[in-house]
Amino acid sequence: MTTIEKNHKFVLQTYGRFPLTIVRGKGSSVWDESGREYLDFCSGIATCSLGHCHPALTKAITEQANTLMHCSNLYYTEPQAELAELIVEKVVREPGQIFFSNSGAESNDGLIKLARKYGVESGRHEIITFNQSFHGRTIGAMSATAQGKIHDGFGPLFPGFHYSPLNDLAALKASITEKTVAFLLEPIQGEGGVHSVTREFLEGLAVLAAEKDILILMDEVQAGFGRTGHLNGYDAILPGFKADGISWAKGMGGGFPIGCFYVAQKHAHLLGPGTHGSTYGGNPLACATAKAVVNTIIEEDLVTNVKAREQQIREEINSWDSPTITEIRGHGLLLGIGLNSEKLAIPEGKVASIYLCAQLLEAGLLTVPAGPDTLRLLPPLNVSEQEIVKGLAILQRELTGLTLRT
Ligand SMILES: *Cc1c(COP(=O)(O)O)cnc(C)c1O
Repeated sequence: MTTIEKNHKFVLQTYGRFPLTIVRGKGSSVWDESGREYLDFCSGIATCSLGHCHPALTKAITEQANTLMHCSNLYYTEPQAELAELIVEKVVREPGQIFFSNSGAESNDGLIKLARKYGVESGRHEIITFNQSFHGRTIGAMSATAQGKIHDGFGPLFPGFHYSPLNDLAALKASITEKTVAFLLEPIQGEGGVHSVTREFLEGLAVLAAEKDILILMDEVQAGFGRTGHLNGYDAILPGFKADGISWAKGMGGGFPIGCFYVAQKHAHLLGPGTHGSTYGGNPLACATAKAVVNTIIEEDLVTNVKAREQQIREEINSWDSPTITEIRGHGLLLGIGLNSEKLAIPEGKVASIYLCAQLLEAGLLTVPAGPDTLRLLPPLNVSEQEIVKGLAILQRELTGLTLRT
């Protein structure tokens, strides 16, 4: 049996996968079983921030695995305390505290629990989230996610969410009731098609939150830790923005499973002893790994590279003046290329973004679909100028090959 056949027989078939088995990676490249190289502009979906097998990451994992891997949260460990300090002091730069989880969905569940706790005194529990959002797949995070296709067949959902259109302040205002306790949003909706929140909307949301004593919860799971060319995704939209709670995962571990959430100091007492927990959350191996990743992002000033590569990508793609591309959305290296499917030769019944991704894979470039008409580019934060040149040449060639001549 091939790996793919074995997967089909023994692994629950919850994912639509591309027909590629990856066996190893180095930097911005991965290799398949036959030794063929692919340029990786997927990065494990915005997760391998430093590319594959970065020496700082491998060293941190090896050393910590040889020292102490796990001991539970019944005791204190140095990597956990140090990573929390690093995130509060160097990333958020506002007083607060961190809870460590293992994924993005769990981090969002923690923020949902924070909101519930905050609302006890005033008898409020409703959280407003936004159309096309994505917050994860647990019952809580899935219910927060305003996409019918994620909910289908799993009802009744966890109660207390209201969905509002993104970037529509009047609608947001109208959505607020006497039960509203929090807003939960992504600075840039990644899975939903790479749609950014606007500066005006974020400013208006902050005003409403202050007026009505509503918590602002930011889902930085995909946009956080340098991905947007800023350490915080919201800084790409509104520099100096302050949230009451922030969730992360993906890029913070460089591929190692870890997530966390921040609670502003004034609310930190709400989640005291016994209120929340995780057996694995914040274990020394995960924290030593994430500490190496976050330190490397900061010390090597990767946000500067992210901004330069974003500019390079925008200039190059704009210079093609291709009828197949409608626009480039997003910030930093969380970019969505809007596809004009009417100008593309897409076989009957195929989704444009998925079809193009499959063609690019065939040509040696890994990318990610985001909704039916958007191609997402998520290269590692340390991707080189030359690698971008190479990747975009493949994209241009494939798009040209698929362009309908009328
Ligand atoms: C991926 C993602 C999640 C879910 O993270 P998991 O680690 O898969 O649970 C939540 N929010 C956003 C914005 C994401 O992109």
